[in-house]
Amino acid sequence: MEDIRIITKESNNVKLYAIAIQSTIDSYRPKLKRFEYKISARLGSKMPARELGECRYSDLADGILSIKIKCTWKCNFIDNLAVLIHESIHAAQYITHVNKISDDGEFFWCGKSHGYINYDKMSNEYQYKKLPWEKEAYDLENNMMENFMKYYISEVRTR
Ligand SMILES: [Zn+2]
Repeated sequence: MEDIRIITKESNNVKLYAIAIQSTIDSYRPKLKRFEYKISARLGSKMPARELGECRYSDLADGILSIKIKCTWKCNFIDNLAVLIHESIHAAQYITHVNKISDDGEFFWCGKSHGYINYDKMSNEYQYKKLPWEKEAYDLENNMMENFMKYYISEVRTR
């Protein structure tokens, strides 16, 4: 397990959530190199009304990506997990440099600029889901969730 810290009141599920993040990152575009990272995921955060989760990163001085995931954790178990996995796909996009955001906020997808994007000012959900990193995360999240559950049942679960 890499450096993944889970902040939650559900102590029984800490390992499961860390494995969900790890398995998502490992199965994302498996041929691409991963840059060094550490992750902290806070499950049960206050967020703007229409948001369920977010994933942000910063570059630390030693070249390690510091990734912060926040989830509201206000759905049922399966839907919460889907949000965590969606945000973990964004983490994987950063860790592979498929998605990069410059210091002043310019978005790059596979090396191509998509300009400066302000999520807060985005007027509708349709517009937001057309962003390539969102489209990919929505396209992959169900498969990633199935992968994780199969992996958990066959490799982690002990009974
Ligand atoms: Zn997203």
